[in-house]
Amino acid sequence: MDALDKRHLYRMPWSMNDNPIGWLESTDRCNIACLGCYRRTIAGHKPLEEIKQDVLFLKQWRNAHNISIAGGEPLIHPDLPEIVRFIREQGMEPLILTNGRALTREMLLELKKAGAMGIAFHVDSLQKREPKWNNKTELELNELREELMELVASVPGMYCNFGMTVYRSNLEQIPDVLRWANRHIDKVHGLVLITFRAAGLDTSVEYWTPDGGSVSPEELGYAAHREVLEDAGVTGPELWALLRREFPHYDAAAYLGGTQRHDSIKWLIGVQIGLGDGTMLGSVGPRLSEAFEVWHHWVHGTYVAHRPSNRIGPKIFLTSVFDEKVRAAWGAFWRGVVARPARLFKPVYLQALGIIQAPDLLPDGRTDMCDSCPDMCVHEGTLVHSCRWDEWRLYGGYLSPHLQQSTPESEPARELAHH
Ligand code: SF4
Repeated sequence: MDALDKRHLYRMPWSMNDNPIGWLESTDRCNIACLGCYRRTIAGHKPLEEIKQDVLFLKQWRNAHNISIAGGEPLIHPDLPEIVRFIREQGMEPLILTNGRALTREMLLELKKAGAMGIAFHVDSLQKREPKWNNKTELELNELREELMELVASVPGMYCNFGMTVYRSNLEQIPDVLRWANRHIDKVHGLVLITFRAAGLDTSVEYWTPDGGSVSPEELGYAAHREVLEDAGVTGPELWALLRREFPHYDAAAYLGGTQRHDSIKWLIGVQIGLGDGTMLGSVGPRLSEAFEVWHHWVHGTYVAHRPSNRIGPKIFLTSVFDEKVRAAWGAFWRGVVARPARLFKPVYLQALGIIQAPDLLPDGRTDMCDSCPDMCVHEGTLVHSCRWDEWRLYGGYLSPHLQQSTPESEPARELAHH
């Protein structure tokens, strides 16, 4: 199998001030509990006026195409329809990131009317949900994913994406989720896999506040003891290799590196091509990814991370002229038609597959964050990494980790934060 090589991937042109995504923290309350969550309940729902100020800030300083309405659980914010409406009025596309528990069809219709682009669900086996869904495998949880998918599909024109946290303990089950998503390529626009990261508590790392005090990070939602840390540490390239082994049609096309290491791959972005009956043909290559980002910026003035429609049709194959991966998919399309001629009339879809490897604590104490972090939120008039926002809320700035003498047992502690 081939290896991941940055020279064969497109480095997304996103930056601090020109980024397709603006991350909006709407509330820190939630109605379930996820092991991989990084948010503590400190302040509750953000007032609507403050949220509007954040949206205007993101519009001005991020040039965002999409606003990810996150939390906590945004569906329990009483002003969600008004938040969605305000974002749409500002010319940006609101995407709601939710665990889906509180979602009803009436709510979806109201959100759609207010201007929501769609829903990105977070479902995985290390969440504490209603008893019916606890202690299930990822394969069993596909039933819940399917319920949520059908709910969104019942409101035409809504984008539907699924995210999940990847732990050591569910890593081998990820192919079951991708297989399910591929089968429903007509209704599932994308899948995002986020590797679990946590700050170690009983370890050799000491955390200093911005004013030099030493604190235990136990107040942070992502602080974890050794037994939990053992579930951390899956890397993006490891996940990519697993999926490449099981899904020959899949490959990544673009990436974001790290802020410290030249060889990190923090975001790995792929777009799969398939037919409406779930037959997968291949993936988009770096040339088309580059052309699409540049074209979108040229025409619309913004970069883009989510396409509202995934039904692309056979016109995608015109890009075979300059993208060899699409050319390979075009070949697979015709081989499929020869084997089963009815496939000629099946609609062609795209399905995104993102892999995110959140911050890593390096052996010398530096923290390797995602270069050009797409998920920055607003904190008191400045942009901060949303995965570490609670450090600002609790300590007034990022904690600096200082490594004490390390021992082989303390190695799992060398993971600082997670997405
Ligand atoms: S918020 Fe953190 S994990 Fe998410 S993109 Fe930014 S740096 Fe990476």
